[in-house]
Formats: sequence, structure tokens, C-alpha cells
Amino acid sequence: MDNAATTPVKKEVLDSMIPYFKEFYGNPSSIYKKGREAKKALDESREKVAKILGASSREIYFTSGGSESDNWAIKGVAFGNKDKGNHIITTKIEHHAVLHTCEYLERNGFDVTYLDVDEYGMINLEDLKNAITDKTILISVIYANNEVGTIQPISEIGKIAKQNNIYFHTDAVQAIGNIEIDVEDLNIDLLSLSAHKLYGPKGVGALYIRKSVKLHPYIHGGAQERNRRAGTESIPNIVGLTKALEIAYENLESHNEKLILLRDKLIKNIMDNISHVKLNGHPEKRLPGNVNVSLKFIEGEALLLSLDMVGIAASSGSACTSGSLDPSHVLLAMGLPHEIAHGSLRLSLGDFNEEDEIDYVVENLKKIVDRLRAMSPLYDKLEEDK
Ligand SMILES: *Cc1c(COP(=O)(O)O)cnc(C)c1O
Repeated sequence: MDNAATTPVKKEVLDSMIPYFKEFYGNPSSIYKKGREAKKALDESREKVAKILGASSREIYFTSGGSESDNWAIKGVAFGNKDKGNHIITTKIEHHAVLHTCEYLERNGFDVTYLDVDEYGMINLEDLKNAITDKTILISVIYANNEVGTIQPISEIGKIAKQNNIYFHTDAVQAIGNIEIDVEDLNIDLLSLSAHKLYGPKGVGALYIRKSVKLHPYIHGGAQERNRRAGTESIPNIVGLTKALEIAYENLESHNEKLILLRDKLIKNIMDNISHVKLNGHPEKRLPGNVNVSLKFIEGEALLLSLDMVGIAASSGSACTSGSLDPSHVLLAMGLPHEIAHGSLRLSLGDFNEEDEIDYVVENLKKIVDRLRAMSPLYDKLEEDK
């Protein structure tokens, strides 16, 4: 129930990678046969990824994952366009790979506007337009949020960016494999993706960079990736990323149909069986596998530990895993009070989940919530007042 955190590598993906560890292990920069074999796989992968995104192969750059792609897109544009301006627009609900990069830039002479979101986690396009100044060089908006699943109006944002001659980056790590994306139609200039959120290996991702974008290289060294991202390419990982993308887009319709069915059943059964629950995120414009609920009078950490004891892997509205007990910045930006945000639960479904698991989760969640609430003095008081 935590596919937004990571997913298992699909068998076909793993199978596609193995020959590039064993047989075709060459360095794609070498001129002899082993090198040429690796180079061929690299070129073919680049072409396939480009085709899926509606880009040209010269616009696809392989990276170590979503975090690197986000860092490169934002710092690369910032440092590459300093002569034009120092203002960046993003949102309050970005992944930390974007937020912390922007905060770093603020400490280094850049100005950043963090757009508010409404109660559903949606940005306001008028706010975006009003935030633009003659110093704005980049708009970076997450395609679909990793915590609450809200999908932003990317097409409209792309139009606004284009009209104002500002680069548009989107962190599409959660959207990829769930939504058809054409960078041309959507006026996207830079797009980050990662393999391990869509049944590919960890440690590999890609950044789409439109041909016309001026940006600084991020990793300095050899001449790989058109002189813009140094380091010997991880061919097995790149082949695996490509395979995972191909499988995802060949099966997009059935994948979405299945996940939406499971998601809506999970939401309905939670709402029907447990009291004092609020669904977080947009009722319609949300990722097919995302469920995020706030359970009043519940503490996220206790809930997660109890779920773990019955074999359910889930994630909470607070970043307790990273050693901090702060409630989620996304839920706070959506206006949830601290104590409610703290009792939030994210269940994210994937291709390997089955319908009987939904029943198991709801059954156990109900038991756990009842038990935890029985120990809560606040809940006790509420019951007495009735
Ligand atoms: C997971 C995730 C990232 C980071 O990707 P990694 O490949 O783990 O570095 C960035 N953005 C979003 C929205 C994510 O969900």
C-alpha cells in the first residue's frame, strides 16, 4: 500500500537488464565492439523514451533519478539564465527535491515565490499569472502530488509560461506511467522522471530538456550526455527504465482502470466503516492509485506501526521516517490544522495489488483505529458529549 514510495521491479524489466550486466557490459564511450553494443542500447533507449514523451531523442538526458533531475532542471536553469533574471515560481506542495533546491537558491541570490494551493491541493492560475515579474526565469510545478495525488492544470500552466517566455519545469515522477504526457502539446520545457516509481530499478531517471533551453551542466567531468551530464552511463539501469516506461504506456488504460476501481473501493469502504475521516486531495483530479485520509484523534506514527504489525506497508502525513515529527508540508499548505495533518494516512496502490487486499486493509484499519481511539482522551471526551 505504499507504491508512491517505491515499486518492485517487474520481471520483464529485470529480464531486459540482465544481458547488460553479463554480456553487453561495455562502456558506451569505448570504440571497440563491446562499447558499440552498449552505445547501441543507450541510443535505442533514448529514442524510445523520447517517443513516449513526444520529444526528440536529443532532448532526453539520463540521470540518477528524480532528485537529480529536479536539482539539475532548477539549478541548471537558474545558473544558466542569471543574466535574464533571478526569480523562480514554484508551489508549496512540491517534493523536497524541488523545495530544498529552491531554498538553496534563495540562499544564493535568487528570489522564489511559493504558490499557495486550495483545500484540494490545486494551485490558482491567477495567482501564477500575478506572481510573474520581468525577472522570472522559471516556473516549476509538480505534475501530480506524491502525497495527496492532486493533478495540476499542466496544460494551462504551460500556456502561461510560453506566453510569458518563461521556462516551465514539471516534476512528473508520480504522473509518469499514470497519465499520457506529450511535452509538445503541454508546452513543457523540462520534465523529471524516475524509474523506481514505475516498476523500474532505483538509481536511474531522466530529464527532458527542450532543445531551446539554456541551462548549465550539473555533473562536470567527461563528455557523456552531450557534454551536459558527466559519468559513465548505467546501461542496465537505462535499459530497465526504458522497458518500465514501455510497459507502463502499453498498458496505461488497463492499469488505470484497475487502480481506479481499487482506489474508489478503498475510499468508499474507509468512509463507510470508519467515523471522523476526511479524504485529502482532489475528488476527481487525482492519481489513479492515491488514497489519502485524515483520521481524527489518531496519531500517524502509532497507526503506521500498528499497520506494519499486520503486514500493511503505508505512509503517514508526517515525515516521521526522516526522523522529524513535523506534519506534512503538503497537508498544511492545504489548510489542514496540525493535529489533523498528523493523523493522516497515505495508501498508494500499484499494479501488484489485488481486490481482496482492500478488504484486508479496511478490516484491519478499522480495528486499529478503534483501539487507538479508545486510548485517546480527546476521543473519549467527544463520545461523552454525545
Ligand atoms: C520519489 C519522488 C522524487 C524523487 O525521485 P528519486 O528517484 O527517488 O530521487 C521526486 N519527486 C517526486 C514527486 C517523487 O515522488
